[in-house]
Amino acid sequence: MYRGNTRVSEKCVGCYPRVEGTDPESDGQPMETRCMAACVGQLRMQGLVKLNPDGSWAEDRQHPLYYLVHVAKVALPLYPQFGTEPNGYYIPPRWVPRPYLHQMFGPGVDQAIDRYTYPDRELLAVLQLFRRSNRIIFRYEIEKGPKVYEATLRGRKITIYNDTVIAYGQDGKEIFRTTVEEPIYVRPDKHANSI
Ligand code: SF4
Repeated sequence: MYRGNTRVSEKCVGCYPRVEGTDPESDGQPMETRCMAACVGQLRMQGLVKLNPDGSWAEDRQHPLYYLVHVAKVALPLYPQFGTEPNGYYIPPRWVPRPYLHQMFGPGVDQAIDRYTYPDRELLAVLQLFRRSNRIIFRYEIEKGPKVYEATLRGRKITIYNDTVIAYGQDGKEIFRTTVEEPIYVRPDKHANSI
């Protein structure tokens, strides 16, 4: 990236003060990088996971990234056949030609797409955690809510519950909670035409 005031190109530093929780804004708690936090599509999640001594991921069932990668298996590594094992995982897009997706993400693509097309209750709740905060989430819990929708989609029954998913930070404190059903806010009349 070119920095105009120093006239040099600088490399990404991974926003280390934020990720380490030493940024003045962070209150000592790890924050996601600025480029993650700025994702307008709200489709990125960054995290810090526990590792085993051999570098593999330690089991951490209530960590959202552990859940998406190792339990639900909807987030897949890019080009696994190269064996480079980058720590970036992608939820594969549905509308890209399937052979191309197999090449990019390996044989788990079909199951991943099937799982998020017909998500179970836990997956639907965890997907609500994306981009609700710029704090790094270390654990989630789900509080069950009422059934709000039932239908048949391409021959398969889907049921949606308005569960609440709660995100916790490194210090164990709640960062935020959100629901599957997005609340609707009606803009008061006095703000009409004020955009
Ligand atoms: S915003 Fe993103 S690209 Fe820029 S330093 Fe932070 S992590 Fe690197």
